[in-house]
Amino acid sequence: MLSFLDTDIKYLKGVGDKRAQLLDSELDIRTFGDLLYTFPYRYVDTSRFYKISEFSGEMPSVQVLGRFVGFTVEGEGLRQRLKGSFYDGSRFMEVVWFSKVNFFKTAYQPGVAYILFGKPTQFRDIWQMAHPEVSAYDATRPPEGFRGVYTIPDKLRKKGYSTRLLSDLVKNLFNNARIGEVGETLPAEIIDKYSLMPLREALGNIHFPQNPDRLQKARERMKFEELFYLQLHILRYSRERGRRIRGHVLAKIGDYFNTYYSRHIPFELTGAQKRVLREIRNDMRTGRQMNRLLQGDVGSGKTMVAFMTMLMAADNGFQSAIMAPTEILASQHFETIRVWGEAIGLRVALLTGNTRAKARREIHEGLQSGDIDIIVGTHALIEDNVQFRNLGLTVIDEQHRFGVAQRAKMWKKSAVAPHVLVMTATPIPRTLAMTVYGDLDVSVIDELPPGRKPVQTWLKFDNARMEVNRLINRELKAGRQVYIVYPLVKENPKLELKSVEQGLERVRGLFPDVKVCMVHGQMKPAEKDYQMEQFVSGSARILVATTVIEVGVNVPNASVMVIENAERFGLSQLHQLRGRVGRGADCSYCILMTRHNIAGDTRKRLSIMTETTDGFLISEADMKMRGPGDMEGTQQSGIAFNLRIANLASDGQILNVARQGAEAVLNAHPELLETPAHGVEQYPGEELALSPESLGLVRTELRTRFSKTYDWSQIS
Ligand code: ADP
Ligand code: MG
Repeated sequence: MLSFLDTDIKYLKGVGDKRAQLLDSELDIRTFGDLLYTFPYRYVDTSRFYKISEFSGEMPSVQVLGRFVGFTVEGEGLRQRLKGSFYDGSRFMEVVWFSKVNFFKTAYQPGVAYILFGKPTQFRDIWQMAHPEVSAYDATRPPEGFRGVYTIPDKLRKKGYSTRLLSDLVKNLFNNARIGEVGETLPAEIIDKYSLMPLREALGNIHFPQNPDRLQKARERMKFEELFYLQLHILRYSRERGRRIRGHVLAKIGDYFNTYYSRHIPFELTGAQKRVLREIRNDMRTGRQMNRLLQGDVGSGKTMVAFMTMLMAADNGFQSAIMAPTEILASQHFETIRVWGEAIGLRVALLTGNTRAKARREIHEGLQSGDIDIIVGTHALIEDNVQFRNLGLTVIDEQHRFGVAQRAKMWKKSAVAPHVLVMTATPIPRTLAMTVYGDLDVSVIDELPPGRKPVQTWLKFDNARMEVNRLINRELKAGRQVYIVYPLVKENPKLELKSVEQGLERVRGLFPDVKVCMVHGQMKPAEKDYQMEQFVSGSARILVATTVIEVGVNVPNASVMVIENAERFGLSQLHQLRGRVGRGADCSYCILMTRHNIAGDTRKRLSIMTETTDGFLISEADMKMRGPGDMEGTQQSGIAFNLRIANLASDGQILNVARQGAEAVLNAHPELLETPAHGVEQYPGEELALSPESLGLVRTELRTRFSKTYDWSQIS
């Protein structure tokens, strides 16, 4: 017999063949289990009625109590729609139906009290509600209290589906005699240890909350469960992988490293840089393949850490590669690393899409013969015809610009996988990083080189242009350089945004005494390089650009960053852009220009920029506001999370506890790994032993949740 949860949804009371098809195509609900795990996305207090006179533009769905005054049909054929005039004692609004006009025309009686549930929208001066849920008002029945709201796609809504209908179907599920078959999915030991709500009670409260408190506990329980198994899964594979994949043993610290460190290094390393170098060295000398994420704010000095890591490789006779996401960044790295490397006799080369055929051939040969010690480049490095004599280390800068597949190709360039150091300036909390990036170890540079002055940041509206221009003039007179960034390359009549091409003309007009250059993503690489060179050399004093300059570009003499239509950029992006200044000048400025009438939350977002220059705080705020869907890297991690209720960005605390729980279980039960070997590595830390029954449960859950196995070599 099929289990209760696997029963076809068409057998549920109130469903049948036709509805089953719709539920399947619109909501992916095919079984009882699918429906049970389709959770409301929010909750409303149904004892609360809103007045039409209280409506505002930003409201979610609300309840109104009132009466229809009359109905009119407008339009013809497909464009036909029904409008009901609805009055609640405070104001009138229009209720609109775009389909099933004939049905709705006679469905409700004028003069009878109804409760409408829907999202108010404003058209000209009139409030409207399209396809609301309508139910007769019964003064003798008290309001239900807290109620879940489900996502109902438009197509279903037009066919008369509502949150109420879905909730009735779920009710039928709970009234089914076989609901008792739904068994607990977490081990008793875990439920105990973390005082979690049992599954059945949690499911009940998620759909039909008894009160806000129990709803909260129910949601916590369901989130914990998802994150616990996710962590267990990730840990299991990373421990497995750590055991299977061996790396080059780079044990020696030799002449290159020592000579450079004692004679050539241009500054004292910060404490954080030294600590991270120790962590890297520990990885590379053990024979374990390093797979490390280096997080550090813009300007924290990741490049030097990468270079000194390359010296460790060179001391052991290995080549290194560093891959950057843009041509500009690759050439900058090349200039820097060539100077550092050549001082101690290392041969450094640059390979990008721009490299001419002849030079390219020579570089290919140099890499194969071992004549080249360090190669700097872009995606061009991952082409198949780039072969190494002995690649020991790959550094990937600004990791979120690279896809998983591209990184994996770098791996395959040597029989033994090279050590991998991934660098990012978009830091995220540690447990989250380990989750999102699979089995990366995480190092953090949490200290800036001494003497950095925070960039002064202001939010300015269009009416302050004169003032901004005066500041630019003053800095130009002092010999400084200026960036002006635009959201668009070309003007677009549909968007009220500034473009870099318009900007170029305007800026040339405003500052006729200095040379202005321009860079954007639609330029030919050679042209881009030429323009960039003008700015880097200082012959051009103002650079107008799109966000191509967001990453890495280093011109210490630049002291002003103006960002036009700043409201169009994400916080992390703004932080990256701001990181282009404050690299040398005594005092630098970042000016966020926006229209005057930006919305409240946009203003709040931008004001975070004016309040802090700490990239960790900014990326945390960014994540909370945008949600993890947009988070850099989630789409690239290669791990299908399939989270229904937990949110990696905002449930950080539950994520941490779930991680601890998963670690404790795995510490006590290394047999959960696929290849439990003798001499199993010991992981220090807490242990949580499970009963044989619980262990069986965990195995089953892992199998059903993550039936697809991942090729972890694909994830670097
Ligand atoms: P990011 O981490 O953003 O890649 P960079 O590696 O480009 O930062 O470093 C930013 C600047 O700081 C560079 O000019 C670099 O030479 C300088 N720098 C790096 N480490 C130190 C240090 N310990 N002391 C002083 N300056 C440093
Ligand atoms: Mg950098």
